[in-house]
Amino acid sequence: MDKGRAYNFSAGPAVLPVPVLEQARDELLDYHGSGMSIMEQSHRGKDYDAVHYEAMENIRLLLELPEAYTVLFLQGGATAQFAMVPLNLLPPGRTADYTDSGSWAAKAIKEARVVGDVHIAADTHEDRPTRVPGVEDLHLSRNPAYLHITTNETISGAQWHAFPEVDTPLVADMSSDILSRPFDPGPFGLIYAGAQKNLGPAGVTLVIVRKEFLERVPGTVPLYLRYRTHAEADSLYNTPPTFSVYLVCLVTRWLRAQGGLTAIEEANRIKADLLYAAIDQTGFYTGTADPAHRSRMNVTFRLPTEALEAQFVSEAEAGGLKGLKGHRSVGGLRASIYNAFPAAGVEALVGFMADFERKNG
Ligand code: PMP
Repeated sequence: MDKGRAYNFSAGPAVLPVPVLEQARDELLDYHGSGMSIMEQSHRGKDYDAVHYEAMENIRLLLELPEAYTVLFLQGGATAQFAMVPLNLLPPGRTADYTDSGSWAAKAIKEARVVGDVHIAADTHEDRPTRVPGVEDLHLSRNPAYLHITTNETISGAQWHAFPEVDTPLVADMSSDILSRPFDPGPFGLIYAGAQKNLGPAGVTLVIVRKEFLERVPGTVPLYLRYRTHAEADSLYNTPPTFSVYLVCLVTRWLRAQGGLTAIEEANRIKADLLYAAIDQTGFYTGTADPAHRSRMNVTFRLPTEALEAQFVSEAEAGGLKGLKGHRSVGGLRASIYNAFPAAGVEALVGFMADFERKNG
């Protein structure tokens, strides 16, 4: 453990890479000889300009995005995207298909229904063990405007490991697994993610959109809520969250230095496999997600009683393993092990779990 650092299993805002925090600290008072912090500078100045475009370019390089896509930095979190997506991409008279895979998908659906016609193409929300839909569960409407999926359900700990191959553009909420693995962007019309899990701190939302989709927006949508407005202004239509974008720049630089998404995926797989193996070992711990859909980002599990779960959380916390309590809506335990979460922290948790079981099992 780095000196003074806890192992932070929080689901988000979440752990950031230590070298990123150190660099931000070193540059805090005097950014590159300017005599001021990057967050004290104009968003139209040359220092911020370099940060802004590098962050976009890093994302483009990491995801190997073709020219057909635009990268945007917006505000309002993934929650604002629940509204902006149908406002821009679901014209009157059309239907949008959504998969209901859990709490986050349901929130996206609720907002889309305010805007237009929604068809539920698959519903695994109440399935236990938790899971996301498979291809066999999908029943699309006729000619939908898009199919929305939530690639990783942060609360239930279920993740899509292969994306559906359908005849309609995919729109994805990737808030909790963006940049955790390589994938083919081709089938996606739009991807969005709040930054505070795998990209940086809260305050900025990444949107990746196919350029041709920018034209779909109905004329009744306010200018600020149109993707086109932000695309035409390179995400500088109004003041962006400059310090958040600066940290996204450092995090994506760090990801590239780690070897990009192939290397990060492998590191994530090793961490998740280690933890799931510990959960499966004796039956004292029970994973809550279907093994075929287990998330490599949010590992959810239970103990035999709620009293033991509370004891587990408080003893873990005392040992520097923080943020393990499950989401308040479902209880249990959740270990969020995003890109920046160190392997040593997973090893420490696995050791703690064995010890806890020995004493209480
Ligand atoms: N979608 C998913 C999958 C999430 O995990 C979250 C936040 N935990 C959200 C959407 C909402 O994000 P925000 O708080 O940035 O609006």
